[in-house]
Amino acid sequence: MRRPYIAGNWKMNLTPSEGKAYASALAEAVKKAGADCRVMIAPSFVSLPGVVEAVKGSDITVSAQNMADHLSGAYTGEVSPEMLRDIGVNTVILGHSERRQYYGETDEIINGKVLLAISLKMEVILCVGETLEERESGKLEEVLKRQIEVGLKDVLPAEMDKITIAYEPVWAIGTGRTATPEDADAAHAFIRRTVAALYSDDIANNLIIQYGGSVKPGNVRALMAKENIDGALVGGASLKLDDFLPIITFNK
Ligand code: PEP
Repeated sequence: MRRPYIAGNWKMNLTPSEGKAYASALAEAVKKAGADCRVMIAPSFVSLPGVVEAVKGSDITVSAQNMADHLSGAYTGEVSPEMLRDIGVNTVILGHSERRQYYGETDEIINGKVLLAISLKMEVILCVGETLEERESGKLEEVLKRQIEVGLKDVLPAEMDKITIAYEPVWAIGTGRTATPEDADAAHAFIRRTVAALYSDDIANNLIIQYGGSVKPGNVRALMAKENIDGALVGGASLKLDDFLPIITFNK
């Protein structure tokens, strides 16, 4: 049985004080609503300590949006996974399309980060997804297969319980365009088959696969009703309680 997992990626939004106040309100609201899915929020690095403090005592997971591919050393401007763990952050989003597109992160770099996070017993949300050009030229499966095979290279079967995969078609992120539930489900089914071939049916059946790309209160139910969609990675609509709470309570 896969427990629904709803995650909010705040990207480069909300100051530390705004983030802390919002996280407190969210923790309160989630508790009051009796939400039964897993909830995660991913603020920017500087907001993490305040948000960790704000959600203390709640079931909300706090995640980083990225991390360095080294533990320490001369890497100006980077944040080490050990620093994250030290402040109580044990989850990280890796391979987001904005990291791939704007900061040149390759599948190999992302794999290095995945292995480093796993070696520290951190949980990872590994983002995969095709561009519009790749989809229109029939390369959807080829792209997903490569991103998964390289991204998870050398991750052991016993470590797969630390991995969540987020399917985020690049053309649907922040554009207001959502994949149809049918298209998203087909991509998720392909991801599950790919993981089954790499690991086992059991591991694939237990894998949480989130959909990301313009998820809103109005489309979350139809997406979550699909067999292979186990959660959502939400960007824009995770920034306001009025949008994010109805997504978290989609099944109420
Ligand atoms: C994201 O950043 O992962 C995302 C899916 O953004 P949005 O919901 O705004 O499309």
